[in-house]
Amino acid sequence: MNLLKGKTAVITGGARGIGKSIAMKYAKEGANIAFIDLRYDEISVETENDLKAFGTICKGYAANVADSEAVAQVVSEILKDFPTIDILVNNAGITRDKLLMRMTEEDWDMVINVNLKSAFVMTKAIQSIMIKQRHGVIVNMSSVVGVSGNAGQANYSASKAGLIGFTKSVAKELGSRNIRSNAIAPGFIETAMTKQLPEAVIEEYMKNIPLKRPGTPDDVANIALFLASDMSSYVTGQVIHVCGGLNI
Ligand code: NAP
Repeated sequence: MNLLKGKTAVITGGARGIGKSIAMKYAKEGANIAFIDLRYDEISVETENDLKAFGTICKGYAANVADSEAVAQVVSEILKDFPTIDILVNNAGITRDKLLMRMTEEDWDMVINVNLKSAFVMTKAIQSIMIKQRHGVIVNMSSVVGVSGNAGQANYSASKAGLIGFTKSVAKELGSRNIRSNAIAPGFIETAMTKQLPEAVIEEYMKNIPLKRPGTPDDVANIALFLASDMSSYVTGQVIHVCGGLNI
């Protein structure tokens, strides 16, 4: 369908998991892809090759997206390799799950920085490009627990709730420049992140998911495609749940 023909997307955490599915979906629809992960390793090379099969320009970069200097550097590299940036997907994320009683200040800071500060740093680094060209799309990866909260995830839930406030504020601030900002709130999605969960926790999730199955990275990527394309041209400041009904 070529929904993103000629567009360039920057995707954080794009080498694997949900980020890779989004990158594949975008490239299939004609987008050039720059993806940024903490490491550039054999998984990044494999993703780069998978993306290139769609015939667009695709390249992986290594940077800590919570570090503003590293981000400034990587964005300048991306702008040497790509004509512009039309789409930003703030997807990189981590967990450090613990009950509050055991959660350290380091657990808190790490998760807030990687999940929330990164969106601030990335958006700040790219917004002037979008403002100048008078168009842009930002997609932030929140979570159902950013709305509902979750025992053992005070740091993670707070970071994901923060992303929702950030998404809505950016939508209000940049809407007049034709820049849209939306968030996705996935539920239980099968990736490396959820593989670490104990069987009992997974069973509990399944009980509460009306569709009675875990989500796939592709389920999330379909919504990320909708939000990046002109099919959602009148949608901004929204949070779209992709969770099989877990939130109802
Ligand atoms: P994942 O498989 O663990 O992948 C996370 C990605 O983020 C990796 O590519 C990782 O790069 C990158 N990353 C981590 N820290 C980084 C940093 N400081 N700088 C740059 N990149 C960094 O995770 P996922 O399950 O696909 O999750 C993707 C997003 O969806 C996350 O924001 C997550 O919170 C959210 N989400 C996931 C679920 C779920 O059920 N899976 C549910 C709700 C929300 P390296 O490999 O180089 O470390």
